[in-house]
Amino acid sequence: MLTAPSIFARALRRSPWVFHVGTSGCNNCDIEIADCLTPRFDVERFGIRLVGSPRHADLMLISGPVSRACREVLQQAWLDMPRPRAAVCVGVCACSMGAYRDAYSVAGPPDTVIREVDPAAKFVYVPGCPPKPEAIIAGIVRLLGEL
Ligand code: SF4
Repeated sequence: MLTAPSIFARALRRSPWVFHVGTSGCNNCDIEIADCLTPRFDVERFGIRLVGSPRHADLMLISGPVSRACREVLQQAWLDMPRPRAAVCVGVCACSMGAYRDAYSVAGPPDTVIREVDPAAKFVYVPGCPPKPEAIIAGIVRLLGEL
């Protein structure tokens, strides 16, 4: 018999809602994320839906390193998400800072910034500059398997 938590977990794996945060990269990763929604890749056929509020999201897609200006905004958006929650770091800048490493205006990579407020946060990393939409979709699917 299915229990309430198992029903919830099954629903999450089959229909995750995703909130996108661009934390100050060059915006090319953001364009690839938008490509996932086009008819060519049609991410909604997997039940994956982009939502406009972290309060409605199961997963967060993060592109770019975290600027000092974005730090608290990202942390608050993360805390606003219901549990279980997890994030996909899209692009080498979100994975390991990329070209922005050692920049004066950058607070750190998203995983480091979020773990300051939630040490148990889960991440999947999709490298590339920018990664292809197929890789971003594969990253989301992989993350769902870990929840
Ligand atoms: S990984 Fe490349 S494409 Fe993505 S934000 Fe960084 S520089 Fe831009």
